[in-house]
Amino acid sequence: MTSKVEPGQWLGVLGGGQLGRMFAQAAQSLGYRVAVYEPAEHCPAGDVADHHFAAAYDNWEQLSAFCERCAAVTVEFENVPPQALEFVAERTRLAPNASAFATARSRRNEKTLFTSLGVDPVPWRYTESPSDIRDAYAELGPDVVLKTNEFGYDGKGQWRIASIDSLENAVSAIGNTPCVMEKRIDLDREFSVVLARADNGDVATFDVVENVHVSGILHTSTVPSCADEAQQDRLVGAARAIAESLDYVGVMAVEFFVAKDGRVYTNEMAPRPHNSGHYTMNGCRSSQFEQQARALAGLPLGSAELHSPTVMINLLGDAWSPVLPLKRLLSQPGVNVHLYGKADAKPGRKMGHINVTAPSAEKVGRLAEYSIEVLGVGATHQG
Ligand code: ADP
Ligand code: MG
Repeated sequence: MTSKVEPGQWLGVLGGGQLGRMFAQAAQSLGYRVAVYEPAEHCPAGDVADHHFAAAYDNWEQLSAFCERCAAVTVEFENVPPQALEFVAERTRLAPNASAFATARSRRNEKTLFTSLGVDPVPWRYTESPSDIRDAYAELGPDVVLKTNEFGYDGKGQWRIASIDSLENAVSAIGNTPCVMEKRIDLDREFSVVLARADNGDVATFDVVENVHVSGILHTSTVPSCADEAQQDRLVGAARAIAESLDYVGVMAVEFFVAKDGRVYTNEMAPRPHNSGHYTMNGCRSSQFEQQARALAGLPLGSAELHSPTVMINLLGDAWSPVLPLKRLLSQPGVNVHLYGKADAKPGRKMGHINVTAPSAEKVGRLAEYSIEVLGVGATHQG
């Protein structure tokens, strides 16, 4: 890494989704100009950027112009083709580094790293053929989850298998696509840790977050979580060990499972800000996106301290019926709405999120329940 990037210079982001949009807004607040590189003509990040390179990831001419403009580049989406990342890393500062992305894009690579660091993943096997899948099932069954090794998100690319019939259905659907099979865990809680790491090795860790997923998609994140101090130390220690091992620069998130029998498993990592860190935009002294901009620019990290108990509620397309009940939400003090500027509200599509803050955990819980009722979208508790 080289010296710091001065306000007025350009920071770049590969990928044009909502994470890129919130990064761009945070970087612009610090005085940077932001270039987004994303093939789609209209996208949440491109719409707010100072410049949008709307070109394919293998358009070397455009990618070269992007690198020439940007003093440093980050990524908001882990499936940017590795060749594009290499190309960028040869021409400008890329943070996180390409090996962090190579780890995070493959579930097999992630789990192998977790095992080597002693932060155990769920029992798993790698498969790349029907016979691998059947052998793995004989070992890990009867209740497993089969996940594509790459390109999965929001529960997509996953099959629950709990019988020989469902095994054979999955085998025909997947064929020779590389996958990992995991034992299905009887979950008590899900947690995540979001942290920022600077190029001088400083680390700022946000509080442990408690997450509730519905149909594989994050529904709510709550801070403070119910994790006790020993559990928090363990999860934070695991996330820090992963970041150190990758010589990571930027914002990273790690997801954890706690089973009903008390065992803790490391689920997956994200080499970027994470949906479960959106609460930091209103609950913490510096948001995860501000930390991302600071780390990328080589500035000192901000404080990750929580100043208000916060619940984040995802706004999926499902909540538009036919429009979002904005007035009822916004008339409550402590409800902050963040929308991503997406035109079509489809079920399961992440359209925005709301952060509910209050002076106490009890009050924030009540306000979150009220908001969820207004939205008609489920509960803040698992099960
Ligand atoms: P994604 O990349 O889509 O986030 P995850 O592996 O994190 O994929 O799975 C999404 C959610 O599905 C998890 O947060 C959890 O609620 C549930 N899940 C995934 N794997 C398992 C498992 N092995 N046992 C129990 N629940 C699981
Ligand atoms: Mg996940």
